[in-house]
Amino acid sequence: MDYDVIIVGAGPAGIFAALTLAKQGVKRVLVLEKGRDIVERDRRRPPDVLCGWGGAGAFSDGKLTFSPEIGGNLGDYVEPSRLEGLLKEADETWVSHGAPGNIYGDISPKVEEMADRARLADLQLIPMRVRHIGTENCVAVLKGLKESLAGTVEIRTGCEVKELVAPENTIYGVKLSNDQMITCQYVIAAPGRSGAPWMKVQAEALGLRTEASPVDIGVRVELPAVVLKEITDVVYESKLVYYSKTFDDKVRTFCMNPFGEVVLEKNEDMVTVNGHSYAGRKTENTNFAILVSSAFTEPFDDPIAYGRYIARLANLLGKGVIIQRLGDLLAGRRSTPQRIAKGLTRPTLKEATPGDLSFVFPYRHLMGITEMLQALEKLAPGVYSRHTLLYGVEVKFYSNRIAVSKELETSIKNLFAIGDGAGITRGLLQASASGIWAARAIARRIKGEEPTP
Ligand SMILES: Cc1cc2nc3c(=O)[nH]c(=O)nc-3n(C[C@H](O)[C@H](O)[C@H](O)COP(=O)(O)OP(=O)(O)OC[C@H]3O[C@@H](n4cnc5c(N)ncnc54)[C@H](O)[C@@H]3O)c2cc1C
Repeated sequence: MDYDVIIVGAGPAGIFAALTLAKQGVKRVLVLEKGRDIVERDRRRPPDVLCGWGGAGAFSDGKLTFSPEIGGNLGDYVEPSRLEGLLKEADETWVSHGAPGNIYGDISPKVEEMADRARLADLQLIPMRVRHIGTENCVAVLKGLKESLAGTVEIRTGCEVKELVAPENTIYGVKLSNDQMITCQYVIAAPGRSGAPWMKVQAEALGLRTEASPVDIGVRVELPAVVLKEITDVVYESKLVYYSKTFDDKVRTFCMNPFGEVVLEKNEDMVTVNGHSYAGRKTENTNFAILVSSAFTEPFDDPIAYGRYIARLANLLGKGVIIQRLGDLLAGRRSTPQRIAKGLTRPTLKEATPGDLSFVFPYRHLMGITEMLQALEKLAPGVYSRHTLLYGVEVKFYSNRIAVSKELETSIKNLFAIGDGAGITRGLLQASASGIWAARAIARRIKGEEPTP
């Protein structure tokens, strides 16, 4: 065998797997990453946004979320007390490589009082602790993580894996896009969301069982930071869940950025919206997403295609992302540059087209979004203002979930699938923890120790 372990993908899942294998003394480890090295990545170039050393999180806001309930389904494989330990360990590694030390959202009487007030507004507040690395610090931390692997793990960037090779239900190696074959005893597949279509093809070819995940579609909401300050000062990122009255759909807030800015997310064939905040630089606004979750079964079971369709409809009508004042949406009219200029909330994203989101969203989604804004108004007066800005579309795709064991091994012997690409996680900290967990199982096997107790 050329290597003991090959890791496909150098996002947090792959990086933390490599760090763990190195720490456990596993010598012959190769990381293959199709994107560029972190120092060569340019966030304005579409493939670089999600691909390269550091993965999808490289230019992100870098919020490390400590709740086992947020950021993935790792809790389905790892028992709660162990998962908490894993998240803590992953966090310590982020911190030892330069992540800032401050944590928001510690449980306090103020947080409990806020959860009670949320309940009265028909909302569930999920308390969680968050470390905010900040967009400007992420790249430096990822560079540090790479440097700490120098000399122990071989890393090849710009190197795409075409195929996982597993004759007789046991992994044998990988084939690169130039058809070079590299053999190994174990493979950890950590291709992230951008590699999910590739993972799907591999799963089909290898006969791995998969399950479709729901798609979350909605808007990015922007309003003066003062409206949510009381909440964001206490919990920084408030995860609020609401079940819509009309459809009983799960609607939730996501990725809250106090004093942050709204940004475009350019993918290959569509433009969507997102938000982030700097640790040091502040705007006058706070933004967050409101997302409505939809699952499909029969005869249509392709939630990703549905989400893309809606996002592309906004791009068709708005030549990109659409912005609308809530007041205009409720009055049944489009926003225009003049109406946006009259508004009291000044948009931080300049490249959005004033338009009408009611042409984009199905009734079901519009109801979910407006009902949730009404509920939020009870918790934070000012949210349901006519000046509140809505940007569309924000969409969150999740990879098909690959069936894996408690150790994250697939039904192919010695092939492990981790992180967002396997549909197991959805966030930086859980992705990192999944890497630690799978790498430990492999290290134990290489050393001839008992499997995970
Ligand atoms: C804009 C943005 C902001 C975000 N903000 C946050 C946040 O604040 N907090 C949070 O917790 N999460 C955030 N996330 C989510 C977070 O980035 C992901 O959950 C996390 O990066 C997943 O890690 P991963 O290693 O599983 O996959 P990824 O980070 O996606 O890494 C996978 C890597 O595999 C590579 N790859 C794919 N296929 C192949 C192949 N065939 N051969 C070789 N390499 C391959 C890809 O190029 C990629 O670099 C954000 C995501 C985005 C897009």
